[in-house]
Amino acid sequence: MTLTYSTICKGCWQQKHMPIPLRGLLSAPFRAVGIKPSRMNPNLCTICELMFERTMKARTVTIDATVLFADLRAYTQLSQTKTPAEMAGFLDEFYDRCANAIWRHDGLLNKTIGDAVMAIFNFPICQADHARQAVLAAREMQREFAARRDEFGVGIGIHCGQVSFGEFGHSHRDITAIGTVVNTAARTQSAAEAGQILVTEDVCRSVGAELANVEAREYRLKGFDDPIRLYAA
Ligand SMILES: [Zn+2]
Repeated sequence: MTLTYSTICKGCWQQKHMPIPLRGLLSAPFRAVGIKPSRMNPNLCTICELMFERTMKARTVTIDATVLFADLRAYTQLSQTKTPAEMAGFLDEFYDRCANAIWRHDGLLNKTIGDAVMAIFNFPICQADHARQAVLAAREMQREFAARRDEFGVGIGIHCGQVSFGEFGHSHRDITAIGTVVNTAARTQSAAEAGQILVTEDVCRSVGAELANVEAREYRLKGFDDPIRLYAA
C-alpha cells in the first residue's frame, strides 16, 4: 500500500482552516521561511509541530489520544550473525514500514527509540475513531512484516486515554506525550510476542464490534501491582 501525500497541511486545515501548501509550486515561499512537511508526519507542517506556545498559548495540552509502541524483536540476537550494514538495513525497513502504516492512518510518528517506535493518534489530526485507526495501522504493520517472520518479528502494544502532549525541555525541545497512558502502552508492547498486537481494555471498548471476539488474557506487567487484562487484536 502506498501513502497518499497531501498538497496542504492536514493539521492546519482541520484546526484553523488555513491552507498551508506542503508540495508543489505554492509551497516554495513557505519553504523559504522554514515551513515544510513535518518529519513526524509528511502530511503535517512544521507549524503544527510548534503550534503549542504560539497558537494554543500553552506549553502542554491534555488530550484524549491513542498511543502505539512497536518493537523490533530478535534485534539483539540478529546483531550477532549479521553485519552492521545488514542490521542498518533491517532498522531502515522497520522504521519505513511502521512510518507508512502510521501515516496512512493519520497518526504521528513521534519517536524512534532504538529498535522501537512510538506513535500518537488524534493529534494534531483529530480522529473520532483514533483507537481503531491505531489498531488498523498495527495490523497493516504486522501484515507487512509477516513475510519476514523467519528473520525478525515485531511486537505491538496499544493503549488510549488522556495524555499530556506538548513541549518538554528548554535547551533541547522535544514534542511528545507523557503520562500513565504512555507508560501502559509501552508495557503492553513489552508483553506482546513477535507478530502479536496486544491492546488494553480501554482500546477494546473504544474500537467496539471489530474487537468484540478477540482473545483476552491476564498479564503481569512490570511496574503494575495488579494483573492487567490484554486483548490480542
Ligand atoms: Zn500545519
